[in-house]
Amino acid sequence: MAGRLEGKVAIITGGGSGLGRASAVRFAAEGAMVCAADLSLEGAAETVHAIETAGGKAIAFQIDTTDEAANDEMVRRTVEAFGGVDVLLAGAGIGSARPGAPPIPFPVLNTPADAFRRVIDVNLYGVLFSDRAAGRWMVANRRPGSIINIASVAAYVALPGGAYSVSKAGVHMLTKVLAQELAPAGIRVNAIGPGFIETPMTAMLREDEARRAWVLGMTPLGRFGRPEEVASTALFLASDESSYYTGELLLPSGGIFHG
Ligand code: NAP
Repeated sequence: MAGRLEGKVAIITGGGSGLGRASAVRFAAEGAMVCAADLSLEGAAETVHAIETAGGKAIAFQIDTTDEAANDEMVRRTVEAFGGVDVLLAGAGIGSARPGAPPIPFPVLNTPADAFRRVIDVNLYGVLFSDRAAGRWMVANRRPGSIINIASVAAYVALPGGAYSVSKAGVHMLTKVLAQELAPAGIRVNAIGPGFIETPMTAMLREDEARRAWVLGMTPLGRFGRPEEVASTALFLASDESSYYTGELLLPSGGIFHG
């Protein structure tokens, strides 16, 4: 049976770890050719190794997504390797700055401006630049496609360390605006708002008993999610099964109440 992404080409930023890696592996298993792009070339190469070992096709690309020209180069390199781009999953991201011990985020009143700005730079401008690079190529080449941004349930919920929630609310609105602009070109733009998932980003949370209890207390399913559970949502949005979705934020969050 053909995979759900047979013959498609997908770029995944943050593809060297966590949710990006799980999605890269899942997309490749469904027949996609994948560009795993990450700040960490080593991480991206490990993802490529996992895909190739399973018989799939992938390339690794080192990128700092806050560099707009580097995003254009990522698209150019992917087109050179695989002939086009059908899917972008913009998953590169960072958490709010955490000073001292225990490592809890700064409150907004005390966040150094540089630390606040860095979160917005990576989580919002990085996504904007990746979306624009892929979107411009798709429009110029009349290629319909699917752009998926990884936001967070924090787009709705004001979590401690305000920079993160602010950045993710921005990604949510960016997704809706781009969905409007790109719909005439047949390009769908959606977002995913995961709850708390077992990745390196949440390692500190999961290791601290009190903070773990805080997370589980707000998560009706009573556990952290697995990266593969977010990859399933990404696969749905990447594939034609979501052909009538655009501008949406889907929430694999274990039922976190967001008002
Ligand atoms: P992760 O395991 O830390 O993966 C994030 C990856 O992005 C890392 O490989 C990181 O590289 C890379 N990265 C960071 N800054 C970058 C930049 N400027 N350019 C390119 N790559 C960069 O975290 P994750 O949990 O998979 O997070 C993926 C996305 O999901 C993020 O946007 C995150 O905000 C979002 N999210 C995660 C959760 C969760 O519970 N895990 C929940 C909601 C949303 P380095 O490690 O080298 O920095």
